[in-house]
Amino acid sequence: MVLRFAVLAAWLALLSPAFAQQRLQVVTTTTDMRSLTEAVGRDLIMAVNLVPASMDAEDYQPKPQDVLRIKNAQMLVRVGLDYDLWVDRLLAQAGKPEISRGGPGYVDASFAIAVLELRGMSVGPGDGHAHGSGNPHYWLDPKNAEIITGTILEALARIDPANAASYQANRSAFLARLGAKLVEWEAKLAPLKGMPIVAYHNSWPYLARRFRLDFVGFIETKPGVPPSPAHLAGIVKTMRERGVRILVREPQEPERDVAFVASKTGAAIVKLAASVGALPRTDDYISLFDANIKALTSAAAKQ
Ligand SMILES: [Zn+2]
Repeated sequence: MVLRFAVLAAWLALLSPAFAQQRLQVVTTTTDMRSLTEAVGRDLIMAVNLVPASMDAEDYQPKPQDVLRIKNAQMLVRVGLDYDLWVDRLLAQAGKPEISRGGPGYVDASFAIAVLELRGMSVGPGDGHAHGSGNPHYWLDPKNAEIITGTILEALARIDPANAASYQANRSAFLARLGAKLVEWEAKLAPLKGMPIVAYHNSWPYLARRFRLDFVGFIETKPGVPPSPAHLAGIVKTMRERGVRILVREPQEPERDVAFVASKTGAAIVKLAASVGALPRTDDYISLFDANIKALTSAAAKQ
């Protein structure tokens, strides 16, 4: 009985607003930024993401409750690079200079990232996608998590210096785990080196560069605009010429054109998650890569 009461008391303490307030309140635009922030903050922070995992952050329409989430936050972590431009309007609405550009609690995680496909320099296949300031999907190179968590650590230590050592230890433990995983992932993806792949949206250049994958075309030419029959015919031609056997689709992307191209080429459709939580078993940053790499390697093994 005493034990049961103690357990109940512990639960009540966890649920009480006083307990929640002790933790540093962080708002992130995406689930990926949330997962990486949690890797550094662990139980010292309480993080929420604004864009649900099932939605495309690049054309997200903020909800009224997002303003409230921003109002309650002591720190904001965004992807930057025009990926989550809508958050600027939310910050202005909420009137929170301390977590807006220039404030101590503002984190643009693209800081110090080597950005691929900068505007005017992109000459790769499938040009035309609306990636204004370069390709923003940089978290999909697991090596970039070192830079991202470094930027997050700096901000956490700045606004909560009493716990700086804990944040540093959390990040080191995470990077050790990630480093071991990277070796495993590189070994698993080695057979896919140079294997031509076509995807719906160009979310993958960072993943491709890290693991030497070869994305040779994209079904989408502009986000939200269906590809023209001529573009689809060109993709089918490329796939036949290059012997493309893998067609990547993210769960939130339309199925029709991918299914058409697959039917014309016999390529396998492989569902990959570009963000934490977009598919089952992608609950955190490391499992996102585990799941995607498993999907890619098992599709390649069947070819
Ligand atoms: Zn994109």
